[in-house]
Amino acid sequence: MRSQDYDRLYLSPPHLGRHEINYLHKALEDNWVAPIGPNLDGFERDICEFTGARHCVALTSGTAAIHLGLIVLGVGPGDEVLCPSFTFVATANPITYLGATPVFIDSESTTWNICPDLLREAIEDRIRQGRRPKALILVHLYGMPAKLRELLAVAAAYNIPVLEDAAEALGGRYKGQPLGTFGAVGVFSFNGNKILTTSGGGALVTNNPEWAQQVRFLATQAKDPASHYQHSVTGYNYRLSNLLAGIGRGQMELLADRVKRRREIYSWYQTHLADVPALKFVQTEPQGGHSNRWLTAVLLNPAETSVTPEQLRLHLETHNIESRPLWKPLHLQPLFQDAPIYGGAVCTNLFTQGICLPSGTAITEQDLRRVLEAIQEILPLA
Ligand SMILES: *Cc1c(COP(=O)(O)O)cnc(C)c1O
Repeated sequence: MRSQDYDRLYLSPPHLGRHEINYLHKALEDNWVAPIGPNLDGFERDICEFTGARHCVALTSGTAAIHLGLIVLGVGPGDEVLCPSFTFVATANPITYLGATPVFIDSESTTWNICPDLLREAIEDRIRQGRRPKALILVHLYGMPAKLRELLAVAAAYNIPVLEDAAEALGGRYKGQPLGTFGAVGVFSFNGNKILTTSGGGALVTNNPEWAQQVRFLATQAKDPASHYQHSVTGYNYRLSNLLAGIGRGQMELLADRVKRRREIYSWYQTHLADVPALKFVQTEPQGGHSNRWLTAVLLNPAETSVTPEQLRLHLETHNIESRPLWKPLHLQPLFQDAPIYGGAVCTNLFTQGICLPSGTAITEQDLRRVLEAIQEILPLA
């Protein structure tokens, strides 16, 4: 067995800087371990400053942020919510929490995000059936900005509010504006594998002060203004702890560097694998888009090789290198077998041909060479 955890190369492990410990230390020293405190306020301020969003509420996860975001957009039982099929399941699960149903839409093949033409088709079809969609969730997959100009124009034409799931896209931009600030509500994740992490955490941003207030209220058990704990609506326990927010403060200082490094890693692979014709680097920025390149995702060209992504993954595994298939489209998941899908072939093909390579920002040149050599063992040079 080569497998020794000390030399295992992970897909996207946490990468701490030097200041997280100071924020944590201060919170412990001040005995501020209660959930709400100065780090939480500071973390929210940092996110507002970086993104330009007017309000931010830090929460226990990106999933919680999507859940509360859908609530403030008015999604409830029996509603339909438009959602990409090609995403992580956490994008769609909160739709189901609310008793609503997802309507899945295929990707276009440049950014791999929702196809604007299919979006329009889906909306018109749902409206014809008397089922006007209540909201649209947009995702920037692997940090790649979706075709926002086209997508937002379609959403606006039908007056459908947008929740922007930027869980993978913190630090990315579109026409200079930070991702996460294009929707009525934006969502970030600070889970352990994301570009920044608080070990687990999330945030909701919005320019609407009432929604921000409602999210804070719902995230802390929905206590009516009375000292005896009175409740009129169902609340949640979704607030991020002041301790974890301290890690987040340290991490936010590093964001610009981390984006730069993820982009360098993508370019490194692209340059060094240019003479492997079986590998295609095709996930491309839309005009004006600046991806954080959270994960380097490549496709295996079946015209050039009979090696499948799973065979490549298992081969890398023998070198103690972690890689992952692309997200399995949600319309192919047993969980969502009854949900409507518009299109479907594009993301299904991406799923069957794609693989994500180790992309963590702590990766060294030596580690990258290890991945390169392992790939070259199984995929011939031109
Ligand atoms: C990670 C992720 C989420 C969920 O975030 P958590 O913080 O893990 O709950 C939602 N959507 C996408 C696209 C993600 O990648």
